Amino acid sequence: MKRRKFLKNSGLTAAGALSAPILSSYSNEMEESNKDVKKAAVRPITVCTWNFKNATAKSWEVLQAGGSSLDAVEQGVRVEEADVTNETVGKGGRPDRDGNVTLDACIMDKDGNCGSVVYLQNIAHPVSVARKVMEETPHIILAGRGAEKFAYEQGFKKEDLLTESTRKQYEEWKKTSKYETTINIENHDTIGMLAIDKNGDIAGACTTSGMAYKVAGRVGDSPIIGAGLFVDNEVGGATATGVGEEVIRTVGSFLIVELMRQGMSPQKACEEGVKRIMKKNKDRKDFQIGFLAINKQGETGGYCVHPGFTYRQYTEAGHENVPVNSFYQKN
Ligand code: ASP
Repeated sequence: MKRRKFLKNSGLTAAGALSAPILSSYSNEMEESNKDVKKAAVRPITVCTWNFKNATAKSWEVLQAGGSSLDAVEQGVRVEEADVTNETVGKGGRPDRDGNVTLDACIMDKDGNCGSVVYLQNIAHPVSVARKVMEETPHIILAGRGAEKFAYEQGFKKEDLLTESTRKQYEEWKKTSKYETTINIENHDTIGMLAIDKNGDIAGACTTSGMAYKVAGRVGDSPIIGAGLFVDNEVGGATATGVGEEVIRTVGSFLIVELMRQGMSPQKACEEGVKRIMKKNKDRKDFQIGFLAINKQGETGGYCVHPGFTYRQYTEAGHENVPVNSFYQKN
């Protein structure tokens, strides 16, 4: 069953269950919040975690040509999934402790539709499989072998995702087999991307090979809607990078979007998101988290635990790498 049909049917059921006054007050509220949207909104705009300038350049190209934010984020993050010199995303990502590259990704559109793949192997573009899950199935998350089988059915090709470089690093790692999270690995990591198109619609995508040498089967925050990524077209979007376990514990991206809904700027909301995590980790300094957010006006913000996280932004005004303040001042 096509997702649209499925949603339409379930939408009817849900609407039927709500009383008329509730529905009308909800739509009044929406109208009120739409009135708040300033006229001088920045659009189009695309942003991503870290300094992935080729990804934002691609995403910008799509937006400039009048493409949707959904196409822009998918095309943008695919650039990093395909780049084998980037050892934290897609093909060429570092493997788990059994030597297998397992990928996590998700995508979310302006209507709140979303798709996700977790623990996916042998497929170089998990974000596009996630989009297929969103558009071609009534489900949201497909995992492991089921996700891989679905990808082949959708025409994706089997590929060896381990490269010469990551194979060698893995052989080296096996000598100690020590699992530790590295802060600001290579000064980049998971790519989370948010975009607003010319129509003012927001979409987001997030894709990663996860923590290097993780326990086989581990899934991080990046493909979990609300944790590694969340978009609400009335409000804005948020995405995360860093130790996924901590982001999941606070449902970080959803939290940030909800804080923006209550009136916080993207910057303040990201700061509050990191502070919530630090409250639960009072004495810990051994992990990095970076949050990035955008609101409906195209204002952006970011915040992280340790210095080093930046985000890339592309608007009519230019293409820049934006430095981000941190909870701790020194690593
Ligand atoms: N958030 C990713 C994960 O936990 C990894 C990262 O961004 O470093 O899988």
